[in-house]
Amino acid sequence: MFDEYNESAEEAATIARLALPWISRNSLPAIPVNYAVAYELLSGRNKQLKSETDKLQKDNKKITQSLLYALFKKYFSGGVNHELIKNIRIELIQIFSEAIEVITSSGVGMDEYREKLEYANTKLNDEMDLNVLRDVVSEMIAETRRMQESSKQLQLHLNATCDELDTLRSDFQKVQNEIFNDPLTGILNRRGLSKLLEQMKLNEAEQDSVSVLMIDIDNFKQFNDSFGHIIGDEVIKFVTNTITDNLKGRDITVRFGGEEFLVILPDTALNMAERVALKLCHAMKAAPLTQTSTRRKLGHITISIGVTSNHHKEQMENIIERADSALYEAKKSGRDRVFSFPLAGDISHEVA
Ligand code: GH3
Ligand code: MG
Ligand code: MG
Repeated sequence: MFDEYNESAEEAATIARLALPWISRNSLPAIPVNYAVAYELLSGRNKQLKSETDKLQKDNKKITQSLLYALFKKYFSGGVNHELIKNIRIELIQIFSEAIEVITSSGVGMDEYREKLEYANTKLNDEMDLNVLRDVVSEMIAETRRMQESSKQLQLHLNATCDELDTLRSDFQKVQNEIFNDPLTGILNRRGLSKLLEQMKLNEAEQDSVSVLMIDIDNFKQFNDSFGHIIGDEVIKFVTNTITDNLKGRDITVRFGGEEFLVILPDTALNMAERVALKLCHAMKAAPLTQTSTRRKLGHITISIGVTSNHHKEQMENIIERADSALYEAKKSGRDRVFSFPLAGDISHEVA
C-alpha cells in the first residue's frame, strides 16, 4: 500500500503529462490500468514500484501488458486509488482554471480593441482632413489584424486546453470504471457495490425496507462445457440485460461473482421483491436462445433466486447472507425457482 498523494495541482499535472509518453515509449496502449501504474511510478513516491521497474530495465526486460496488469493488481488492490482519482480531479480543476484565465484575458484584449475603435470613432467625428482619416483607417486595419492574430492564438490555446481536458476526463472515467465496474457487463462489481453502499449509507440499511435478490445462473458449467466460454460470456451479458431491463431506475444490479448477480431493491417490501424475482425468472426463460451468427440453438437459460429483506438497521452483509441461504434452498429443491427468506422465522420457502 502507499501513502496519501500530496502533490500540488501543478506537480500532479506534470506527472500526468509524463504518464502518457511513458506508456507509449513502452509500446503499450494508453488504457486506464497502464495510466494508473505510470502515474504512480512517475510520481516517484512508490520506491518499491520504482525499483521493480528499474530492475526490469537494467535486466533489459520488456515492460509488457501482463506485467502492468500484475503491477496494477499489486499496488492498486483494495480500492486504494481513490487517491489517484482525487489527483486526476485536482489536475482537471487546475486545467479548468487555466482555461478560465485564458478566456478572461481574451476579454481584456477585446476591451482594448473596443476602446481603440471608440477612440478612432471620436477622431472621425472631430474635425479632420484626409490625412487623419487615412491614418485612422490604417491604424484600425492594423489593430484588427493584430486582434485576429491574437484570437487565432487564443483559439489554438483553447483548442489545446480542451483536447487536454477531454483526454484527462476520459482517462479519469476509464480508471474509475475499471475499478468499480465489471468489464464484461458494465454493471457494478463488488468493489463498486462497497463504494456505493458507503455513499448511500445503505450498509446500515436504514430505510424502512430494502430487499435483496441473489441470482445464480443454473447449470452454467454444463452450458460452458457444451458451447464454450465465449458463448458463455454472451449469455452472462444476456442475463445482465434481462435483469436490468426488468428493474426500475433506482434498483442496483451487481455482478457478484462469475455467474452470480446481486440486486438491491431500495424501498421495496418483501412481497414486492418476490414478485420482481418471479418476473425475472420468467423473463429469463421466455424464449430459447439462438446464436445469431450461426443460428445454432442454445436452449433455455434458467436462473434461481433467493430473496429477503432487512431488519431495522441491519448490516447489508447479513441481508446478503440470508438471500444467499434462500438461493441455496432454491438450488437444492430443483433450480429455476424463487425462494424467499422472510424476517420472521428462520426457514425459507418457495415463491409461486
Ligand atoms: P448451479 O446451478 O448449481 O449454479 O450450477 P453451475 O454449473 O451454474 O454452478 P458452478 O458453481 O458449478 O459453476 C459455475 C460456472 O460458471 C463455472 C464457470 O465455468 C462459469 N463461469 C463463471 N464465470 C464465468 C464467466 O465470466 N464466463 C463464462 N463463460 N463462464 C463463467
Ligand atoms: Mg450457477
Ligand atoms: Mg454460482
